[in-house]
Amino acid sequence: MSQNEYRVRFAPSPTGYLHIGGARTAIYDWLLAKQSGGKFILRIEDTDRKRFVPGSLEDIKENLRWLGLEWDEGPEVGGAYGPYFQSERLDIYQRFAQQLIDEGKAYYCYCTPERLQQLRQAQEGAKEQVGYDRHCRDGSPEAREGMKRVIRFKTPLTGKTLVKDLLRGDLEFENNLLEDLVLIKSDGYPTYHFANVVDDHLMKVTHVLRGEEWLPSTPVHVLLYQAFGWEPPKFVHLSLFLSPDGKGKLSKRHGATSVKEYRELGYLPEALFNFLLLLGWNPGNDQEVISKTEAIRLFSLDRVNASPVRFALDKLNWYNGVYIRSLEPRDLAERCLPFLQKDGLLPEPCPAERFEYLVRLMPLVQERLKLLTDITGWVDFFLREEIPAPPKEMLIPKKLDAPTTLRVLRALLETLEKVPDAFAAGDLEAALHPLPEKLELKMGDVFMPLRVAVSGKTATPGMYEMLQALGKERVIKRLKAAIEVLAD
Ligand code: GLU
Repeated sequence: MSQNEYRVRFAPSPTGYLHIGGARTAIYDWLLAKQSGGKFILRIEDTDRKRFVPGSLEDIKENLRWLGLEWDEGPEVGGAYGPYFQSERLDIYQRFAQQLIDEGKAYYCYCTPERLQQLRQAQEGAKEQVGYDRHCRDGSPEAREGMKRVIRFKTPLTGKTLVKDLLRGDLEFENNLLEDLVLIKSDGYPTYHFANVVDDHLMKVTHVLRGEEWLPSTPVHVLLYQAFGWEPPKFVHLSLFLSPDGKGKLSKRHGATSVKEYRELGYLPEALFNFLLLLGWNPGNDQEVISKTEAIRLFSLDRVNASPVRFALDKLNWYNGVYIRSLEPRDLAERCLPFLQKDGLLPEPCPAERFEYLVRLMPLVQERLKLLTDITGWVDFFLREEIPAPPKEMLIPKKLDAPTTLRVLRALLETLEKVPDAFAAGDLEAALHPLPEKLELKMGDVFMPLRVAVSGKTATPGMYEMLQALGKERVIKRLKAAIEVLAD
């Protein structure tokens, strides 16, 4: 491994779905690994069995892949430093904990949960700092064979610990304010802190990127590295996301917080990637649309922002429109297909000829689409053979009455019946364009009833393209149905 090849890990716990904050960390991790010719490692920190959420591991893997963040080492792909599930590395943590015990840097603690609870209550009652009182640090009076015990770290009681953070500079922590953290729990599992440090060392991780909520743990991590005589990795604690109004921390009540939800809402992975990339980093100029390939080239830690950033949903929506418009029709159709299938507008699997028809519709709606989930509203009347006849109130334009509208629809029918069967947009335009003048009516008063009659909606794609894509047969049929509504 050359000096410049970064080994960067994303280390989620399977305690929930992939969070957008986590996704941003993973994006930065991935970019650092790619641009340095290094490795992006996925390590699953599954040592807290009580907090395990079924399905979360699958969700994390699926959505990292959806964002295009394939890992070089980790679950399913393996690697030289595995296993990559912490639950499969228990013997390793035991060995290193034993080493610290042997060297007098860690100790067995036999304090019962009841004692610890009483201690906390007493400390809270006396308004003292809450924390372990180091009862067992110099030998435990309670120690007996077969008793439950944990292993704790002997945190130095004096002095200071320096955390070097690439974003935040050098941060000093007073050791006497740090606790004697548990390294191995009574069930034999390591704590997050211990497993994290041992693994980052054994996996030769060069850069640790994580949310700033982990910053208070870092001095103890640094002390652990020192206790082992290991060189710590470089730390980068990323800022929090603020709510869209900028008034507080982003939380569930502001809307979706998992990648899965954004995906289901109809965002493109390219848009989410680009949006998260710029949520805390900037390229040094006002370029906003940055592809993954460009990001690999441009990304650098010295442009990562240490202050909290506002989660501006309107910006994400804007990106989504930009990326939707950049897609080839076939690609866009492929991405819309699952949403249309879910809404029952296309069968699963979709027959080739129906898919080709969908591809043909894409240029008509591409400009108007903001979310992939909007697709149903734009194309349902194309994909259905029949639509319910629109009600009178919808068919009659504001300034027209029923008899005039009926006259308009009849004139439209007569005109359209004469258009050659191919229903080419050019022929349609030539036939329809002169009609308002002939009827001595405004454009809108002639075309709105037509639009509503064939689509059941007041907003649709462009008229001539829409009629062509619907085809003569369906247009004539729907016009006749609308005429019947008004003639009643
Ligand atoms: N398992 C921790 C988490 O779920 C990892 C934090 C770190 O990257 O050190 O966020």
